Amino acid sequence: MLKICRHCEDEFETTSAYKRRVGGYIDECPDCVEENGGDPAPVIRGFVTGDGKMAAMQILKFGSESDANQYGKNWNNNSGWQNRRTGSMNDIRFEKVGENLGNANHKGKA
Ligand SMILES: [Zn+2]
Repeated sequence: MLKICRHCEDEFETTSAYKRRVGGYIDECPDCVEENGGDPAPVIRGFVTGDGKMAAMQILKFGSESDANQYGKNWNNNSGWQNRRTGSMNDIRFEKVGENLGNANHKGKA
C-alpha cells in the first residue's frame, strides 16, 4: 500500500522490506524513521540467567535499541550471574516487564 509520509510528503510502500525493517509509524517513510532515530516503540529483550536446570528468563524493556545492545554487551561480559557486577548496568535505563524464574522445586522432569 502506498502512503504519503507525514514528514517529507514522499510516497512510500508500507509493505516494503526496508519499511518493515526500520519500523516506525504507518505514515512515516523509512527514511524519516531512520533520520528520527528509529522505531519509537520500546525495545524488549529477554535475557536468560541461571545455570542449567535453574535457568530463568528476564524480560526487560529498554528506551532504545542502543540501550538494549549496551545492556546485552554488559550482560555477556559478566562471568556469572551469581557474581555479576551491577555497577556497569546502572546507567542504562530499563524496566523489567516480566520474569520467568526457574522452578526450584520441580521433580522428575528433565
Ligand atoms: Zn519521509
